Amino acid sequence: MAEKLTVIAGCMFAGKSTELVRLFDLNRHASLKGQAFKASIDQRYGKPDKIVVHPQSDNGFECHIELPATGLPIEKPEELFGFLKPDTKFVAVDEVQFFNENIVPVVKTLLAKNIQVIVAGLPTDFRGEPFGQMPVLLTLADQITRLQAICKFEQDGKICGRPATRTQRLINGQPANFDDPIILVGGEESYTARCPDHHFVPGKPRVLFQSTKSKRE
Ligand SMILES: [Zn+2]
Repeated sequence: MAEKLTVIAGCMFAGKSTELVRLFDLNRHASLKGQAFKASIDQRYGKPDKIVVHPQSDNGFECHIELPATGLPIEKPEELFGFLKPDTKFVAVDEVQFFNENIVPVVKTLLAKNIQVIVAGLPTDFRGEPFGQMPVLLTLADQITRLQAICKFEQDGKICGRPATRTQRLINGQPANFDDPIILVGGEESYTARCPDHHFVPGKPRVLFQSTKSKRE
């Protein structure tokens, strides 16, 4: 098997964990032995040893699906090697954006050992800024799956419904400020999917390119 890194990227509620588990299952049916890991910071629903998906729900309807694949929680990416079995042929990592910069050499080491790697994560945080090592992992990827959710912005009783690529953070129903802490793990009570037009980040500095006239005129 050739070296192969697959990166599944998308905003919250885009179905990243579902896709990760689907690929994990395909490999399992191909009799490839795999192991799944996840950042220990992801303690959603009190199931730290499971990969839990939380599909986009209708307003006021809470739901989540627990899939059979187990995701061993680790705090530092290099801890993964302590659990790696000799016959493992592929490694899946969920919520990869939460790991520190060591995740990059860890992934490279796995690939060098001819172990296939599938990671899933948020490319940007709630502020729309690059999240963790996702930008680096995306450039290293042999295969990228970009997933979208549906924008849940509501105006005059209507849902926007356009493809959502951003994660909107809400605190008490209001858009979170740019300076609020990045990491707060939670379900739809704290985050929602938004299209670029409906992604609001109060206090975000506007960095626009300023064109200047040439002095040689
Ligand atoms: Zn929208």
